[in-house]
Amino acid sequence: MAGKEGSGMVVRYAGRLGVVASVALNLAALALYIRRRFFGGSGSGDGGGGREIATVEPSKGKPLVTPDSVVNLDHGDPTMYEAFWRETGDRATIVIPGCQTMSYFSDVGGFCWFLEPGFEREVRRLHRLVGNAVVDGYHVLVGTGSTQLFQAALYALSPATDGAPMSVVSPAPYYSSYPAVTNFLNSGLYRWAGDANTFDGDTCIELVCSPNNPDGGIRKAVIESKSGKAIHDFAYYWPQYTPITEAAGHDIMLFTVSKCTGHAGTRLGWALVKDREVAQKMIKFIELNTIGVSKDSQLRAAKILGAVCDGYETSLDGEASRLFHFARQQMMERWSKLRAAVAASDIFTLPNELSNYCTFVKETITTNPPFAWLRCEKEGVKDLEGFLREHKIITRGGTKFGVDGRFVRVSMLDTDEAFNVFMDRLASLK
Ligand code: PMP
Repeated sequence: MAGKEGSGMVVRYAGRLGVVASVALNLAALALYIRRRFFGGSGSGDGGGGREIATVEPSKGKPLVTPDSVVNLDHGDPTMYEAFWRETGDRATIVIPGCQTMSYFSDVGGFCWFLEPGFEREVRRLHRLVGNAVVDGYHVLVGTGSTQLFQAALYALSPATDGAPMSVVSPAPYYSSYPAVTNFLNSGLYRWAGDANTFDGDTCIELVCSPNNPDGGIRKAVIESKSGKAIHDFAYYWPQYTPITEAAGHDIMLFTVSKCTGHAGTRLGWALVKDREVAQKMIKFIELNTIGVSKDSQLRAAKILGAVCDGYETSLDGEASRLFHFARQQMMERWSKLRAAVAASDIFTLPNELSNYCTFVKETITTNPPFAWLRCEKEGVKDLEGFLREHKIITRGGTKFGVDGRFVRVSMLDTDEAFNVFMDRLASLK
């Protein structure tokens, strides 16, 4: 009996071994096929014609933060979303074979010749999902970050006459890049004219940033009636930062993957533009500036935006695949820690917390601005940026945003390590 059972087991075992071996062989053959098909190697694995696949490691980015190191929260570098994307695996991965994306052109004969149709499709799909902007009747344009689109919009809105440069304004505190980028090339077409609240000229371009960088305020144009020319910067009009209250429908609206999904390194932004002529001028600017926009980046961004939409529309993973829910949870946790630390300190204050009904999550939620706009109430501290630097915290001072040096802007989007060191240091300041 035992012998019979034993020999039966051997037969079954041998049978299983056969199945395992055949599956393994099939997998090896598949790997070889993929390697030859997409990477062109012979696959022999030795010096006789076999080629190693050269991999290029991405850079590590920023130095690691330790409890003693300087913590740099000057830039809004959105690395906090890495934890979400680490879990998505292949759903947000693309492979681009060497023979693809070689042409300059993406859509010859289309409205914007350098716009990848797949990217445009995912942009429209994402806005329909979130409900934060109207897309029907709008031209979609792509740029190397929304920073390039901002410059394209300034060019498109400035009259090409020999007159004085067009004034560019925004209410203080305004995003510190606006004056820097506007004046960088000393253009004869437009010039930075400061705080929109005190502007008294006849015509201007107003930059409306909402939620506002640096203070998180929800904004509407303040001088629309005078100029009629506004650029709406909606880098942060996403549900992790603010309740979505309406599908915005302004003339020029700028968005960026940097702050939406956290992929700042992909350097991709998009604009929704109502007027055909304005859109054509913006396209001309990008054509002369960089001869279009990286197709590789557009394909990657399309995959990423598609993964965000799939996470809500088709994924079975529940909360784990919902970017905005994950990101909002992270932001809420950080803001509750920060508010508790500031309340416990005698020397700092923050803008009041705002809340509203969000049409996307379908409940009343608070805002979680991407930056903390910190004010120091301590006697004698007029340069808060310098004061925090002495404590090895790098921030951006109020003067760069058109207000006084008692304010600083602190990024809320950095790694957990950097944020936690910031919290510990803040609690120790008296
Ligand atoms: N607008 C605002 C308000 C921003 O804060 C930023 C990034 N800090 C940008 C635009 C630029 O974004 P991008 O990375 O797409 O150039």
